[in-house]
Amino acid sequence: MYLLRCIECGSEFDSDFIYQCSKCNGLLDVVYDYSEIKLNFDGNNLSVWKYKDALPVKIKPVSLREGGTPLYKIEKIESGVKNLFVKHEGLNPSGSFKDRGMTVGVTKAVELKMRTVICASTGNTSASMAMYAAKAGLRAVVILPSGKVALGKLAQALMHGAKVIAVKDNFDKALEIVKSLAMRKSLYLLNSINPFRLEGQKTIAYEIYDELGFVPDAIFVPVGNAGNISAIYKGFKELVEMGYTDEVPRMIGVQAKGANPIYKAFVKGSREIEPVKNPETIATAIRIGAPVNAKKALRAIYESKGAVIEVGDEEIVEAQKMLAAKEGIGVEPASAASLAGALKFEEELESAVCIATGNLLKDPDEVIRVCGKPIEVEADVDVIEKLL
Ligand SMILES: *Cc1c(COP(=O)(O)O)cnc(C)c1O
Ligand SMILES: [Zn+2]
Repeated sequence: MYLLRCIECGSEFDSDFIYQCSKCNGLLDVVYDYSEIKLNFDGNNLSVWKYKDALPVKIKPVSLREGGTPLYKIEKIESGVKNLFVKHEGLNPSGSFKDRGMTVGVTKAVELKMRTVICASTGNTSASMAMYAAKAGLRAVVILPSGKVALGKLAQALMHGAKVIAVKDNFDKALEIVKSLAMRKSLYLLNSINPFRLEGQKTIAYEIYDELGFVPDAIFVPVGNAGNISAIYKGFKELVEMGYTDEVPRMIGVQAKGANPIYKAFVKGSREIEPVKNPETIATAIRIGAPVNAKKALRAIYESKGAVIEVGDEEIVEAQKMLAAKEGIGVEPASAASLAGALKFEEELESAVCIATGNLLKDPDEVIRVCGKPIEVEADVDVIEKLL
């Protein structure tokens, strides 16, 4: 069994129907009686639902076989990390780690007998939610910042049958609207303030431990709304609480320079962020100025003796190209921020994992911008031979 507990005032709630603390508006965590949970870390058949005893659902999951993503050892890219790995979350069903959260969140929506799910999104949340809503037979409504969503993500939300509404403002405003709508109508909110969604995402930590058999020194995570870094840290902390290990990794958040409120808070040693008004970066998935999970993320970062690194768009693109051309790992720009951060990290590490959050195919326009178009020629062997 589980409860929801406020991270600010510690109030506990036995109802599934809340997103934030009704006393102080704080974020909620799902907490369990860990002595009742037994997980199997035999290194085989990794998936989100392999760890279902540590997930807060009571019915048969709405699943498209998420998780079980490959953990690649980096072989050619040089860094200060002796054993550097990349976990390719872009190989989930909809092409991002959001599927881990959505399989749990949409299952919860079904359990609560909700008919419509809603989210604000920079793209991947909407793609994933639309896909799982389709599988579950629920209506999906997504609110996007107009003109700021990568083409692949938009295509997914549309084709999987969501009602897609583009607002003439940024992501932060879209989320504000979605929160108000969810209060007014009976719509189930699936952004990352939903504590059940984050429970699915914590399985990234379980899988890393399951596959490696040890806890790495550090995890590098691209940070936008800051839910994922919080979820992964929770997963590692639970491994300690359940007695599987006694260490947690250092959680290293990576932000883009133009969308860096958590970085700025970290530099000041603060636990509060000041929102960035007009966030801007090529990495649209982390183009967020007022991350809703900032408090959870900063808690994870300070508690684990982690850090926050900021990287410029040129460093992100460089890391994206290196991953693709040297290691065969195709990711979207936000995902490459984790490697860009690892390359910039000044301390030496024995082992670390970079989370590659989303697939290369998500943002084809960016690829053409940074790689250029293919060379066009006449269909003539001699002409082409000269080019080679
Ligand atoms: C959602 C997303 C992120 C950011 O994750 P948060 O939990 O919002 O910090 C990073 N990269 C990709 C590809 C994403 O889809
Ligand atoms: Zn509270």
